[in-house]
Amino acid sequence: MRIDILTLFPKMCETVMNESIIGRAQKAGKVEIVCTNIRDYSGNKHNKVDDTPYGGGMGMVMAAEPIYNAYKSLYNEGEAKPHLVYLSPKGKTFNQKRAVELSKLDRLVLLCGHYEGIDERVIEEIVDEEISIGDFVLTGGELPALAVADAVCRMLPGVLSDELCFSEESHFDGLLEYPQYTRPPEWLGKCVPQVLLSGNHKKIDDWRRCKSLKITMEKRPDMLKESDLGEKDKKLLKKCEDWL
Ligand code: SAM
Repeated sequence: MRIDILTLFPKMCETVMNESIIGRAQKAGKVEIVCTNIRDYSGNKHNKVDDTPYGGGMGMVMAAEPIYNAYKSLYNEGEAKPHLVYLSPKGKTFNQKRAVELSKLDRLVLLCGHYEGIDERVIEEIVDEEISIGDFVLTGGELPALAVADAVCRMLPGVLSDELCFSEESHFDGLLEYPQYTRPPEWLGKCVPQVLLSGNHKKIDDWRRCKSLKITMEKRPDMLKESDLGEKDKKLLKKCEDWL
């Protein structure tokens, strides 16, 4: 998969994307991430990409033409138009399901706004989808684009060591993840639950499922209520009462 990030701050995006798991995935050829500076497509000698808003008001608005030209530079005439996501607080809230869906695309372009946002006409002309990362406003689309790129990349085959790394995680199957522990077995007088040290995989799976169900119902009742539970899970919770 190739992910393009259209931004006024390419170094900011490259720095994050070249580190850790996503950096290694790029080196291994599992994903290609290309950051393009919209300013390079300003079309004027002062490299100006923003202007004052029509109708007055605070701040500056990113002009349509540099964004349009930067996007057009990413593919040749006659080639399929890569899916363009504009990161925007007005967009649909991002989630794991959308990350999985986007990871199936061959190409994805993430457009980062800045200042007061971008000229509406370029949204109408080239944007396929608007995505928000939550009901708050950031100074720019770079952090949202990095969040989306990271969530999408880790769904690509071979980026994580095993599919189990994400298939048991929070949100993948509508539940939050069970608690995790590592060495030492006792820390500040707190012990790792005995069942995790038992080596009994059936019991460990049951404990994890119970904890996931319980934690999801407690922390995110919007995701799961007791009344939503199937018979199998109800029985499991009853059987494992001592653990909870
Ligand atoms: N004036 C805009 C409004 O009220 O909707 C906010 C513009 S914001 C200061 C600048 C840029 O940051 C946006 O164009 C967008 O790309 C990005 N941005 C800010 N908050 C965001 C969020 N919650 N999700 C996605 N992108 C966001």
